[in-house]
Amino acid sequence: MNDPHLGALVVGAEDLQQRVGELGKEITSDYTNRPPLLVGVLKGAFMFMSDLSRAIDLPVEFDFMAVSSYGSATRTSGVVRILKDLDIDLTGRHVLIVEDIVDSGLTLAYLRKNLAARGPASLEVCALLVKEGLQKVDPDLRYVGFRIAPDFVVGYGLDVGERYRNLPAIYQYTGPLFG
Ligand code: 5GP
Repeated sequence: MNDPHLGALVVGAEDLQQRVGELGKEITSDYTNRPPLLVGVLKGAFMFMSDLSRAIDLPVEFDFMAVSSYGSATRTSGVVRILKDLDIDLTGRHVLIVEDIVDSGLTLAYLRKNLAARGPASLEVCALLVKEGLQKVDPDLRYVGFRIAPDFVVGYGLDVGERYRNLPAIYQYTGPLFG
């Protein structure tokens, strides 16, 4: 895409697909005999969740949550509002949260606490991207796709003002940030 606001390539499409395949294999072997309920965090994780689920060779189930963080578009405050809650009861389930990107880790810390209170048999996190060195709380991530530099990125589900989600790779974003 010829866009002046797109900066350097951060993770290429082939590397993404290869790593997602590896994560799928790892999850398949870790969850044999206890298929996970995948909980995708909308909207950013939708593409990762779609590819990851196809790389897991188990009868997984899906649910989605939508959350919004109070604060600016690019910095979360840790105060999270649930915009769409889960449809499925988590009691006794092996829940795997599928997140797009962990920045401060505050959104995930809130989600983990919220979902843990619903009585799952287990609760783990699979994050596609983790920004190096920015976590204010220990995010305790069982699966991580890539650790990246702390730049603002878009593509493969990640947006700025709802744009760029359909890019098949992840790029630095160098344009203006709204919100
Ligand atoms: P945290 O609570 O870890 O600071 O923020 C996590 C959320 O902020 C992510 O789920 C994502 O929605 C958003 N976010 C953080 N960093 C980026 C980024 O580099 N690009 C985009 N598009 N969203 C981000």
